[in-house]
Amino acid sequence: MAQRRNPTGIGCLPREGCCRVCAGEITGRQVLYCSARCRGIYYRNHQWIWARRAAKIRARRRDGRRVLPGWLCARCGKITFEPEVNHIVPLNGARTNLSCGHHQANLEVLCRKPCHLEVTASQRAAGLIGRPPAAEPPADETGRDMASGSPHP
Ligand SMILES: [Zn+2]
Ligand SMILES: [Zn+2]
Ligand SMILES: [Zn+2]
Repeated sequence: MAQRRNPTGIGCLPREGCCRVCAGEITGRQVLYCSARCRGIYYRNHQWIWARRAAKIRARRRDGRRVLPGWLCARCGKITFEPEVNHIVPLNGARTNLSCGHHQANLEVLCRKPCHLEVTASQRAAGLIGRPPAAEPPADETGRDMASGSPHP
């Protein structure tokens, strides 16, 4: 999978002694991020639940600040009421909670039918999904990064 590494501004890699997102100073009780804002940026691009929610918010139909019913499908451009978040570069079964595969740039909202079903079928036909995940180190698996890292001051 093509993965962009630092510097991306979304905190792909931890940095020694400073915020992994903005490289700013870490103060107080924060361990890995300088602020809730930077934590949010990291989570929206790496943590599946946050990333999925952010992708849906991006695809939500709006009129200025007003939220309209439905979501826009990134492929057919039609309004859908069954929005599904698709990985443009598939994770190939490695459904890790924390992954660089969840970057917002790798997520799009599709209508369930036909677009997401078609995309999934063609990815499967191309052998991109459905195989067992490649042997990857299980690092960053569970969101433990909230608690670990450098010791508290
Ligand atoms: Zn920061
Ligand atoms: Zn569609
Ligand atoms: Zn990343």
